[in-house]
Amino acid sequence: MLEERSAGAVLFRLEDREPIYLILHYHAGHWDFPKGNIEQGEDELSTVKREVREETCIDDVEFIQGFRRMVEYMYRRAGRLVHKVVVFYLAKTSKDEVKLSYEHNDYRWGRFDVALNLLTYNNSKIILRDADTFLRGILSS
Ligand code: ATP
Repeated sequence: MLEERSAGAVLFRLEDREPIYLILHYHAGHWDFPKGNIEQGEDELSTVKREVREETCIDDVEFIQGFRRMVEYMYRRAGRLVHKVVVFYLAKTSKDEVKLSYEHNDYRWGRFDVALNLLTYNNSKIILRDADTFLRGILSS
């Protein structure tokens, strides 16, 4: 079985102290957070910064300490089974302009409920719920 490891971000900006999340539309059809493969010798946070920059042109990512979550799933690539682990960090940007790369065909900025409905996979919805609760705890303190 092939093994794949990616890292990504629950990326948000604040609008009147309300978190607005970025969700991307993948060519395969699903909606998910920005993420990408961890390259050899690269640490997770560097992957997240690089992938967010490459996929959206957002280059001012600021990580929120204390949030790191993992999802895993299996899929088939060219007939071969792939076991994939993706780690997600929570990160803030002050930018709202997004320039997509060839890897995605659409994006949305949305408040929690909008983003939650957009996400295709339940494991990503769980991450967003968790991130939103975590963030609101910080914002209210
Ligand atoms: P990356 O963004 O890490 O470079 P990718 O675009 O190559 O990844 P994935 O987004 O992992 O690929 O999608 C590969 C396959 O896995 C697709 O068929 C997709 O539908 C499925 N998939 C993607 N995310 C999930 C998930 N969270 N849970 C289950 N299956 C998923």
